[in-house]
Amino acid sequence: MAASRKYSRKHEAVLQCLRSTTTHPSADWVFQQLRKDFPEMSLGTVYRNLAQCKQRGEVRTVGFVGGFERFDARMDPHDHFVCRQCGRVDDLPPLPLPEGLDQLVGAQLGAQIDEHSLLFYGRCAACQAGDAQAD
Ligand SMILES: [Zn+2]
Ligand SMILES: [Zn+2]
Repeated sequence: MAASRKYSRKHEAVLQCLRSTTTHPSADWVFQQLRKDFPEMSLGTVYRNLAQCKQRGEVRTVGFVGGFERFDARMDPHDHFVCRQCGRVDDLPPLPLPEGLDQLVGAQLGAQIDEHSLLFYGRCAACQAGDAQAD
């Protein structure tokens, strides 16, 4: 039995935690969720396991919001909206992008494009409504 090649319980817990949410959380959020079950777990352990998940293609980084890396366990190509005010990150439905966009970018760079991922920044509906109420 090559135990070291199997997923550790913590790795599995980190992955399941990310798969259980669509909020694209930060490492700290994952840490807060898991410390109930793993009192000895440190934020560093969470980061290490997240890095491992990324290496294995189980998790990806969506982007940095307020300086914090945000993670996504949904691996099919999709785009995101980031609210600059509250920091929420939403999945977007497929967008009507111009045909041949990947080829266009690929030709400009002399690169082969496999996929793309767009990030839209702004303020979400809830934040705009909150501002309206405050007035
Ligand atoms: Zn917002
Ligand atoms: Zn996503």
